[in-house]
Amino acid sequence: MRVLVIEDERTLAAQLAQALTEASYAVDVAHNGVDALHAGETGEFDAAILDLGLPRLDGITVLKRWRAGGRNMPVLILTARDNWHEKVAGIDAGADDYLTKPFHMEELLARVRALIRRAGGHARAELACGPVVLDTRSGRVTVAGRGIALTSHEYRVLDYLMHHRNEIVSRSALVEHIYAQDFDRDSNTVEVFIARLRKKLPANLIETVRGLGYRLACEE
Ligand code: CA
Repeated sequence: MRVLVIEDERTLAAQLAQALTEASYAVDVAHNGVDALHAGETGEFDAAILDLGLPRLDGITVLKRWRAGGRNMPVLILTARDNWHEKVAGIDAGADDYLTKPFHMEELLARVRALIRRAGGHARAELACGPVVLDTRSGRVTVAGRGIALTSHEYRVLDYLMHHRNEIVSRSALVEHIYAQDFDRDSNTVEVFIARLRKKLPANLIETVRGLGYRLACEE
């Protein structure tokens, strides 16, 4: 899963990026409204965290332009304390949730998880496919109750497939959603991650759909 962080306070932006990276997200950061608008229009994100008070272009305008342009990723806005009309304006502009500064990082992470889950139509924090269970809160993956160890990128691939378990996921979509923009992207590595996951997961759980991509075979 890939998250766009827009925050002009550099220290907070770095703290957000670090916490999200530790929680296994690919993270892109923008520090002003113009860069934010461009990143959101051109990249594929599973969620965006948008500070409303930004230089060059304010957050409400960024959000309105994304929505007008058909960008529908979940957006969590960051608002100043006691500024209730800013929350109303943000939600009316298309925000899905808000947090008031200062906030606890754990709460932000929980809200981001929930937004991504709901965008995929999942109500529960644990995603299951056959004997495989992925707990989005802890990042723990079990097969028939036994924990398995995954690298950060293997986890990102499985997490994305689990969130889209009723769909065929293309290799290019996986590349877009497991790497930040400035990461040295190589679509061949996706095949490597899939091959490694197949060794750790039940046989045939990850199906290859020829010419289209991958799909999880979940027996209900
Ligand atoms: Ca700000």
